[in-house]
Amino acid sequence: MATPRFTFHQPQNLEQALDMVGMYRTNGKILAGGTDLVPKLRAGLMDVHHVISLNRVPGLNRITYQDDDGLVIGSGARLADVAVHPDVRKNYPGLAHACSVMATTQIRNMATVAGNIINSAPSADTAAPLLAYEAAVILVERGGRRHVPLTEFFTGPGMNIMEPMEILEAIRVPSPPKQSGSAYLRLSARSKVDIAAVGVAGFLALDMQGAIIKARLALSAVAPTPVRCPEAEAMLAGQMPEPELLKRAAAACVRACRPIDDVRATASYRRKMVQVLAQRVIQQSFEMAKGGAA
Ligand SMILES: Cc1cc2nc3c(=O)[nH]c(=O)nc-3n(C[C@H](O)[C@H](O)[C@H](O)COP(=O)(O)OP(=O)(O)OC[C@H]3O[C@@H](n4cnc5c(N)ncnc54)[C@H](O)[C@@H]3O)c2cc1C
Repeated sequence: MATPRFTFHQPQNLEQALDMVGMYRTNGKILAGGTDLVPKLRAGLMDVHHVISLNRVPGLNRITYQDDDGLVIGSGARLADVAVHPDVRKNYPGLAHACSVMATTQIRNMATVAGNIINSAPSADTAAPLLAYEAAVILVERGGRRHVPLTEFFTGPGMNIMEPMEILEAIRVPSPPKQSGSAYLRLSARSKVDIAAVGVAGFLALDMQGAIIKARLALSAVAPTPVRCPEAEAMLAGQMPEPELLKRAAAACVRACRPIDDVRATASYRRKMVQVLAQRVIQQSFEMAKGGAA
């Protein structure tokens, strides 16, 4: 299908971009990598007369890390750049892994983490690790900025709390404590170049005796939105990670699911795979936190 006609805008700074977003709020759309937006425009799923590209706004593609301040991923940062960034690989391996295995090389070179979050697909690969790392998004509009924890961002399949006049400026991720580890595992039905049928992310912090002081677990593709698993997290906190406990925590992750049958997998397969992947993710996060794996 041919791409419908629209006016293409290239603001040169954030102020111009915010003006345009305000001016065209009823029939305009922001473009980052375009890997979600352009197929939807081509399919005639949106009535869009103005496309506002953020690609010439300076500074949006930054990826910065400081031990005391954590990670900042600008909304223009591409998946491929996040995947290989040394600070991301070292401190947020679950996110680096998600960004390096999702989609295809071409898509990863174009697509942004911000676009993946804003698209708000239940299967969004970066969402589960970012939820496990307790990320927040910075939303900006004329006259103000707000920080929204990712746990409050998603409201349904393809839906989130963003207002039409807001631009997502950056994603902030707190820095991990020293003795911590994390992982993300995903399964897709056909090959890795497919939307995930199940995704599980985990983050564990340990005390000096090796007990878990903090656990964060998150799932994608198994509920109407990416979700955290508070029951499993509470079960792990304060405990030594014994095999029986890991099994029970993974079972609690299964209880956090609300999967559906679709072309990628049945609900029952998804539940079974959450049990398997959650156990592995907790184990891998623990090994990394102990210093046994890099
Ligand atoms: C072949 C193919 C394979 C794919 N595989 C996967 C996969 O395995 N896993 C997965 O999770 N996804 C996958 N995707 C989906 C897609 O590539 C990702 O969601 C991608 O990260 C979207 O980023 P983008 O920069 O291209 O977003 P865009 O398409 O540019 O934008 C997405 C949405 O966000 C809005 N937007 C973008 N930036 C901003 C901003 N800063 N402020 C406000 N609004 C903004 C746009 O208006 C649009 O509504 C795939 C897509 C394709 C085409």
